Amino acid sequence: KNFQNASFKDFENVPGQDLYTTVNEFHEYLDFLRNNGHLNYRIESVSPVGPEMDLLLPGHTKTTRSVCLVSNDYLGFSQHPKIKAAVIDGITRFGTGSGASPAIGGHFIYHKLLEEKIAAFYRKRQGILYTTGYTANSATLQCILHKEDLAILDMAVHASVYEGALNTSVKTFLHNDLDMLEKVLKNAQDKYRTRMVVIDGVYSQDGDLAPIGAIADLAHSYGAYLVVDDAHGIGVIGNTGRGVIELENAFDKVDIITGTFSKALGNIGGYVLGEPNLIEYLKFQSKQHLFSTTATPAIFGILKAIDLVDEEPEWRTKLWNNINYLKAGLISAGFDVGTTASAVIPVKIGDIPKTLEAGRLLLNSGIYTNPIMYPAVSKKNARIRMNMMATHSFEQLDRVLDAFKQIDQILKISTNYHA
Ligand code: PMP
Repeated sequence: KNFQNASFKDFENVPGQDLYTTVNEFHEYLDFLRNNGHLNYRIESVSPVGPEMDLLLPGHTKTTRSVCLVSNDYLGFSQHPKIKAAVIDGITRFGTGSGASPAIGGHFIYHKLLEEKIAAFYRKRQGILYTTGYTANSATLQCILHKEDLAILDMAVHASVYEGALNTSVKTFLHNDLDMLEKVLKNAQDKYRTRMVVIDGVYSQDGDLAPIGAIADLAHSYGAYLVVDDAHGIGVIGNTGRGVIELENAFDKVDIITGTFSKALGNIGGYVLGEPNLIEYLKFQSKQHLFSTTATPAIFGILKAIDLVDEEPEWRTKLWNNINYLKAGLISAGFDVGTTASAVIPVKIGDIPKTLEAGRLLLNSGIYTNPIMYPAVSKKNARIRMNMMATHSFEQLDRVLDAFKQIDQILKISTNYHA
């Protein structure tokens, strides 16, 4: 079989083919990637999250120390001593689990404190917690939007938003294209019960930002609501780390804010913030909240992390120094980093096989990045994606830049080889 141009998508819901034929063919495809050194998913790390990690690479028996550019732990908070101490304190006082779902015995004071704290952080009145950021999006949209309603999605929103919109009518608009959004809003007027525009604050593949204020004004002028998922913005963007919503001064303009504790806040869990009655409705109607056990007392670490976003802004400064340093180095070496304005830095390559080979060569030189391709991005838009951390040193970033210059000689990615 020729798997050269295949993608994961080709093995999804294959028409007329039984399950085990599909899973066996998919296994062959994974073997094809593995044999070429191109299956760099699920690489095992035997050391903590950090700017360098010890990786057990496929086929190796010894670990390889690598500069890590794959973590959303942007501020390094998963390893922060004060946050670890807060988690330990929480577990000492409340144990390792909460024992039940929230409506029937699993709602503890630390859940209430976190709901209140994250809502206040974003100047909203109420919040609800979910197991993950993914569920926060998928469960909320699923609960409030049905066939008579319309979800209007920026095409580049996270997969969890698409999942949330499976049972409602959906229209998409080209990424950040306000003219197209306006056309959709105009055509949808009076045709649907509720119209809900859903965007990300920071887009996870390009690292670019949404013009939240302008989109909010547009949505509201056509009687639609706006949901913003700022998973990659919290802690990173804005003078005080309130994300793209702060940058755009759009606190009062966003109807529903969703996000995650799993990135800059160094833990796990999702949240949804909004008007009290809406959040209360979710607390008693949203199935993934209602019928699922609440988060563990490790939440004490999230409470501390939110404090530290304000109390230790130096982590944000360090992160931005690193972002600017690596970005400038890549640009001056002729690489295309697109329109990123966040801690997500892509190096655009285009071609899928070349991108996979770039990932392999980088990994072999001790640089751990993510090759991203279809269906996460369109077919001709494959790229290497990097996530910056406050705890990277310039020396580590110099190693990254050197490795990119080396692979450029083989793969000819930069403008040194094509205008
Ligand atoms: N939204 C966006 C934009 C994301 O990038 C992610 C994480 N990959 C999520 C939501 C899901 O968050 P979590 O990892 O907490 O499920």
